[in-house]
Amino acid sequence: MKTNISDLAICGGPPAFNETLHVGRPNIGDREQLIQSFKQILDNRWLTNNGPFVQEFEKKVAQILGVRHCIAMCNATIALEIVIRGLGLTGEVIVPSFTFIATAHSLQWQEITPVFCDIDPDTHTIDPKKIESLITPRTTGIIGVHLWGRPCAINELVEITNHHNLMLIFDAAHAFDCSYNGHMIGNFGEAEVFSFHATKFINSFEGGMVATNNGKLAAKLRLMKNFGFAGYDNVIHIGTNGKMNEMCAAMGLASLDYMDDIVDTNLRNYRQYKDDLADLPGVSLINYDENEKNNFQYIVLEIDERLARLSRDQLLKVLRTENIFARRYFYPGCHRMKPYRSYFPHSGLLLPETEKMTDRILILPTGTAINTDDIKAICQIVKLSVKHGESIKSILESQNTINKE
Ligand SMILES: *Cc1c(COP(=O)(O)O)cnc(C)c1O
Repeated sequence: MKTNISDLAICGGPPAFNETLHVGRPNIGDREQLIQSFKQILDNRWLTNNGPFVQEFEKKVAQILGVRHCIAMCNATIALEIVIRGLGLTGEVIVPSFTFIATAHSLQWQEITPVFCDIDPDTHTIDPKKIESLITPRTTGIIGVHLWGRPCAINELVEITNHHNLMLIFDAAHAFDCSYNGHMIGNFGEAEVFSFHATKFINSFEGGMVATNNGKLAAKLRLMKNFGFAGYDNVIHIGTNGKMNEMCAAMGLASLDYMDDIVDTNLRNYRQYKDDLADLPGVSLINYDENEKNNFQYIVLEIDERLARLSRDQLLKVLRTENIFARRYFYPGCHRMKPYRSYFPHSGLLLPETEKMTDRILILPTGTAINTDDIKAICQIVKLSVKHGESIKSILESQNTINKE
């Protein structure tokens, strides 16, 4: 355990970890069950095209969410694109900039303009108070993002979309097994889209799932993800290839069987981080509403440079040098990435909270791939860094090697 500033790797000490700790290291379900499923798939010679494992995966997810229709797809980005197109969105759609780039790309990919809205700094989700000033005659919808699994202000968004006759959908990539006012995420808006990418807490290698209670929309999405085929020789709609394959569904099913354990582990890790980092000046760990279901898959720190006396990027540098690969999600914000920063070079002026937040957030490792001792060591390094904030700042500034990737 590191106790002195000279123990830190930036001061020449050995790194705290020999092997790099990652954010979003995959949780892997029961190996034997998986291998059995893979054998079964090969025996079936039914590898894709709505096979039995995909059907079972959709059924299980629909049960967990209590939603009428679940449509599995190859990933959440394609699923978002298909939902956006299936709902006929055009022109402009309002989205937060503080999200993974796929939320914006899924619009721009089909030449719909993402109009970036600021976030509420208390929730990190789209600020309903800032939406109405962004609505124009070209606006057709709003995409809310349940960042870190914490739901958007759904009631307020429903009110705005009803009032202005807009479509409402949700990027629920982070929010599988989470709730809003006691109702499972997956039941809100026209549709909600989950991701089962390897880094998400439930994974199917790659995968996405659309949840909706709208039967007509569900039928349309099923056509669109399979080239518009309604029968062997009968194409009745424009479509693409958004299908999930059987191997992915088997991985998803194994992951679901293990879901309660993963949530328990995430919650235990979260509580340990919370205890270990309590009362640390300038460092706060976000809260999850105890009255809601949550998956606790993100350990999200907010660093206040003034109080911590070192910046988020300096703390990142300290941790990376210790082989703790913390991440700056979602730095620098979609509006500062290409192509959006060339389209709207001044959009940051309308996004003051997003700009502040993207400079403050640091994500630490959790999940089943790390243990209690790892967390203890990580927290000790964070505490040591803040205790010696000023010295570390000057060491790093003299080394001038702050990671600007
Ligand atoms: C991961 C993620 C996506 C994309 O999911 P994929 O399944 O990788 O396509 C979209 N939005 C958010 C907020 C994400 O975190």
